[in-house]
Amino acid sequence: MTEQQAPGFFGNYGGSFLPPHLVEPMREVAIAYEEARQDSTFLEDYQALLSRYVGRPSLLYRAERLSEHVGGARIYMKREDLNHTGSHKINHCLGEALLAKRMGKTKLIAETGAGQHGVALATAAALLGLECEIHMGAIDVAKQHPNVVRMNMLGAKVVAVEEGGASLKEAVDSAFATFAARPEEYLFAIGSVVGPHPYPSIVRDFQSVVGREARAQFLEAEGRLPDAAVACVGGGSNAMGLFSGFLEDQSVQLYGVEPGGEGLDTARHAATMSLGTPGTLHGMATRVLQTADGEPAPVHSIASGLDYPGVGPQHVYLNETGRAHYVAVTDEQTLEAFQTLTRCEGILPALESSHAVAYGCLLARELGPEAAIIVNLSGRGDKDVDYVAEVLATR
Ligand SMILES: *Cc1c(COP(=O)(O)O)cnc(C)c1O
Repeated sequence: MTEQQAPGFFGNYGGSFLPPHLVEPMREVAIAYEEARQDSTFLEDYQALLSRYVGRPSLLYRAERLSEHVGGARIYMKREDLNHTGSHKINHCLGEALLAKRMGKTKLIAETGAGQHGVALATAAALLGLECEIHMGAIDVAKQHPNVVRMNMLGAKVVAVEEGGASLKEAVDSAFATFAARPEEYLFAIGSVVGPHPYPSIVRDFQSVVGREARAQFLEAEGRLPDAAVACVGGGSNAMGLFSGFLEDQSVQLYGVEPGGEGLDTARHAATMSLGTPGTLHGMATRVLQTADGEPAPVHSIASGLDYPGVGPQHVYLNETGRAHYVAVTDEQTLEAFQTLTRCEGILPALESSHAVAYGCLLARELGPEAAIIVNLSGRGDKDVDYVAEVLATR
């Protein structure tokens, strides 16, 4: 059920839909990755970075006070917020940086929206002695100033993209174009389980450590498998990481939580799985929130890391086969979950992760006290506290 039917396809989704000048560079990446993932030295180097630099394994934490507060299932949290740099993103950035070195490239290039991927990639580049170039919409450069400062300090070059809407879509196009002009120098290092083959598989494989660890840790703690695993979905990398540990365990229900924004009955959300339609975006066949003339629609979420009009193709496949379920929670529910977790457990979750916490609490109540679930805490909320304080002050 989880098999790819053709290289890079998950059912009818994924694949590689590229302009001719990008076909060969992407094929080169696919071949190099296929070799790398079968090379025990490469895998050992990656594992060493995870344990010695990221601080893995991350904790699986039993949130007793939250569980009590909710009054239902035991809630465990996979603490990706405790990783170096504060989220799951470092897992795949280090993998991509190692792959670049193996391929003899000297530079990493990527797009970033809110800047979280850019910071994680700049970190990996600094550690491994690679150059790093991050393309970012000019509007985002202005809005996300602290992350731009961080990237600069880490030695990355931030390119402000002025074209079109000067946002994530233009940043992706610009980064692709620069990569295509100099593929012998650059490795394109995408920020989620999205884009053309082989990226959805590369990023999933590097994130799968989250699910492998969580499964073993849960078995150790409870002597059985969890009833459910819950994660937020922007492009879907932290969710794919957690889910990949449980895909063959049919008794474990998998839930991806999308940003419902101001409500699915408004235009202000980014719930691609719930309301998107089949289309192509960023070189992949997937579901897309799109306008009548096929352009990606403007999207909204209180969590800038979930603000994406597409979704990873493997998620669309898991949805269609019924293996995973996709739900949405609103900005309002997210804010409430942010405050609840902070007050009950002394853990400040990222607003992205707070979506998973919100749904995890609803699910825990529904499943009742005999059940036990895992919620992926994809990142820490320090970056969000000023914004949350501002919103709460207007109440
Ligand atoms: C970027 C980010 C996300 C969203 O990305 P996915 O690829 O959907 O995982 C979620 N949580 C945090 C903390 C992030 O930084």
